[in-house]
Amino acid sequence: MDKKSRYLELKKLLNSYSKQYYLLDDPAVSDAEYDKLYNELLAIEAEFPEFKTASSPSQKVGAKASKKFKKITHSTEMLSLENAYNEDDITDFMDRVKKLAGSDDVQFVLEPKFDGLSVSIKYKNGVLVNAATRGDGRVGEDVTQNIMTMDIPKKIPLAGELEVRGEVIMLKKDFQELNEQRERNGEKIFANPRNAAAGSLRQLDPEITRSRTLQLFPYTIISSEVHFLTQIEVLETLRKCGFTVSEYSALCRTQAEAHEFYLNLEKRRADLEYDIDGVVYKLNNLDLQRKLGASAKFPRHSIAYKFTAEKAETVITNIVVQVGRTGNITPVAELKPVTVGGVVVSRATLHNKDEIEKKDIRVGDRVVLQRAGDVIPQVLYPILSERPANSQPFIFPDKCPCCGSLLVREEAEVAIKCINLDCEAQIIENLAHFVSKYAFNIDGLGEQSIRYLFERKIVLSAPDIFEIESKNGREFNLQNAEGWGRQSVENLFTSINTSRSISLDRFIYSLGIPQVGRAISKLIAAFWGSYGNMLKNIRAENYDDLLSIDGIGESIVDDIKNFFKNEHNIKVITRLAGDENTPGYVIVADAERVESGELAGKTIVFTGSMQRFTRDQAKEAAERLGAKVSSSVSSKTSFVVVGENAGSKLEDARKKGVKIISEEDFEKIIEKNSRS
Ligand code: NAD
Repeated sequence: MDKKSRYLELKKLLNSYSKQYYLLDDPAVSDAEYDKLYNELLAIEAEFPEFKTASSPSQKVGAKASKKFKKITHSTEMLSLENAYNEDDITDFMDRVKKLAGSDDVQFVLEPKFDGLSVSIKYKNGVLVNAATRGDGRVGEDVTQNIMTMDIPKKIPLAGELEVRGEVIMLKKDFQELNEQRERNGEKIFANPRNAAAGSLRQLDPEITRSRTLQLFPYTIISSEVHFLTQIEVLETLRKCGFTVSEYSALCRTQAEAHEFYLNLEKRRADLEYDIDGVVYKLNNLDLQRKLGASAKFPRHSIAYKFTAEKAETVITNIVVQVGRTGNITPVAELKPVTVGGVVVSRATLHNKDEIEKKDIRVGDRVVLQRAGDVIPQVLYPILSERPANSQPFIFPDKCPCCGSLLVREEAEVAIKCINLDCEAQIIENLAHFVSKYAFNIDGLGEQSIRYLFERKIVLSAPDIFEIESKNGREFNLQNAEGWGRQSVENLFTSINTSRSISLDRFIYSLGIPQVGRAISKLIAAFWGSYGNMLKNIRAENYDDLLSIDGIGESIVDDIKNFFKNEHNIKVITRLAGDENTPGYVIVADAERVESGELAGKTIVFTGSMQRFTRDQAKEAAERLGAKVSSSVSSKTSFVVVGENAGSKLEDARKKGVKIISEEDFEKIIEKNSRS
C-alpha cells in the first residue's frame, strides 16, 4: 500500500475509533493500539506535510458534541495535551519553553494526569450556572444537570464570570462495583474507569449520574476578570473554594527534581484510589503561559508525560464457563500466570459470548492483558501473528456446565443464561450471596463449606442455615467432618446466631433479586419501612408504588415482580422471617426513617485506620443514623473522623477548615444517638 492510501486509511480508522471512544464511551480498541496508529499517522505527516488537513486526527481535539445534548460554546478552547514518552521528550519540552520564555529560570508545576473526562463549569458571581464536556474543544455537551448531582461547590466566593476546568473521574472501587453489578444484570460492562466516568456523566437522565459516584479534580480557572499569577495560586484558590484538589502536586525547578516526582508517583500509581496515566508538567507562571499560547491541538506551556501501561502478555491455557447467581454464564480464561502491574494473574474474565467472538479469543492464543481498575485483568486482544496453526475458534457451550439445561439468550441481552432454578451452581452462588458480608454476614461459610453442606443435603435453601445447630449431633456431626473442627463449628454457630437480627435493607439484599444491589435495597427498605409491610405488598402484588422511588425504574420493578411470582421465593422469606401465624428464624428490624438526630443529613468522611470499627461498620452506623459517607473532603463535609495514620484527607480537612473528630468522639455520637 502506498503512503497516501495508508495515510487515508489511518485517518478513517482513527476518526472512527475516536467516535466510539468519545461519543459512545465504548472504545473499539485499547489506548495503546490507538496511540500506535496515531503515531504512525504523525510519522507520515512529518514525511508528507502536504497530506495534513484540518480534518486530520492530529489537528482535532476529541470529537464533535453528541446531537443528543444541548450545546455550550466554551469561552476559550479546551485543548488536549501533547504527550511525552521519555526524558528526552521532557528535555526538549523544557528547552522549548525556556527559549520561548526567554529565560532559563522557569518553574514547573507537576500534577497527576487524571484519567477521566474533562469538563468546564461556569460560575457567574459565585453561582454555578452551567457545565459542559470538552466536545471538540470549541463546543461541548451541556451536562449542567448531571454536574449538579455531584459533590462539588455550587457556590464559590469568587466574583465575576469564570470557568473551573477539571477532570471527572470514577474511583477504581466504584468502577469495580458498578461493573460487577452490570455484569450480574447482563448489561454491557465499561472497559475502564475513564469510560465508566464518561458514560455516567454523559447521560440524558441526571438521575443515572446521581446513582453513580463521580469525583471532580479541578486544575484550572479560566477568567478574564481575576488575574492569577501562578498555577500554584490557582490550585490554592480552588482549594479555598471548597473543591477537592489533588494532594499530589509539586513545584519543581529542575528536570531532575521533576523526574523524581514522576518516578515516585508512578510507584504509587497502583495504590491510588483512581486511575492516572501520567504526570502533567505545566509552566507555573501564568503570564508566561499566555505568552506561549497554543497550537491547533495543544497548549505550548504543558505536556503530559505518560506512564508505561500496566500491560503484559501471556497464553490462554483454557477457557471455562461459570454459572453465576442469576444464571448468567460467564466465560473465564485460564492463563499461564503472569505479573501485570505488580499482581500475579492466572485468570481473566472474558465477560460474555459476544466479547469472545468480537475479539476472536481462542485457547492457545498469546494475548495482551491489561489491568483495568484495581485488580480485574482484561484480555485486550490476541496476537494473531503468534496464533498456533491448529487453533480453533472457541465454541460457546449450549448447555449449562452444571445442570446440563439448554442455555438461553433473552432478547436484547448480552448474557447467556441457565434458567433452571434448580441448577446447583446457581443455588450455591445464591447461598454464598445470602451469607456474604453485606447480606447476613455469616463468617465461616465460604463457598466450599456451602458446597459441602449442600451436597450432604444439610443446607438446600437459605433458611436451612438456621437449623444447622439444632440438627447437629442428631442428623449429622459437623465437628467430626473433614475440613471442620470443634472451634470452627462453634464459631460458625456464633456467627449464624449473631446474624439472626438483621436490618430490612440487608434482608432484601440477601435475597439476591436481580438488579437489587445494596443501594437499591436501601431505597426499597426505606420505602416499605418494615418486614410486615413488605410481606403485605408482596402478597397484594403491589410493586408499582416502587416506581415512585428516585432511582428505581420499570426494569428493576419487573425483576422484583418476577422474583416474587415464584412461590418458592415467598416460602423462603416467610420461613426466614415468619408471618402472622408462624415465627421465623430471624428478626428483621424496621427501616429507620432518620429525619432528626445529630447525624441526620450530615456528610462524613473517614480517614486513617480505626481501632473500634471496621470501615464498613463505621459507615453502616453513620448511615443508619441518617448520615451520608463520602470518600473525599469537600465544602459539604460536616466532619472528618480521624483514625490512626491519617493522611491526605486529614490535611485536606485542615486546609478547608472542616471539623475534625476522633474515633472515640465518633463512637460516643453513635452510642448517644442509637440510644435515643
Ligand atoms: P488526553 O486525555 O490524553 O490528554 C488531555 C487531557 O488530559 C485534557 O483534556 C485534560 O482533560 C486531561 N488532564 C488530566 N489531568 C490533567 C491535569 N492535571 N492538567 C491538565 N489536564 C489534565 O488527550 P485526549 O486528546 O483527550 O485523548 C487522547 C487519548 O485518548 C490518547 O491517549 C488515546 O489513547 C485516547 N483515545 C483512545 C481511543 C481508543 O479507541 N481507545 C480513541 C481516541 C482517543
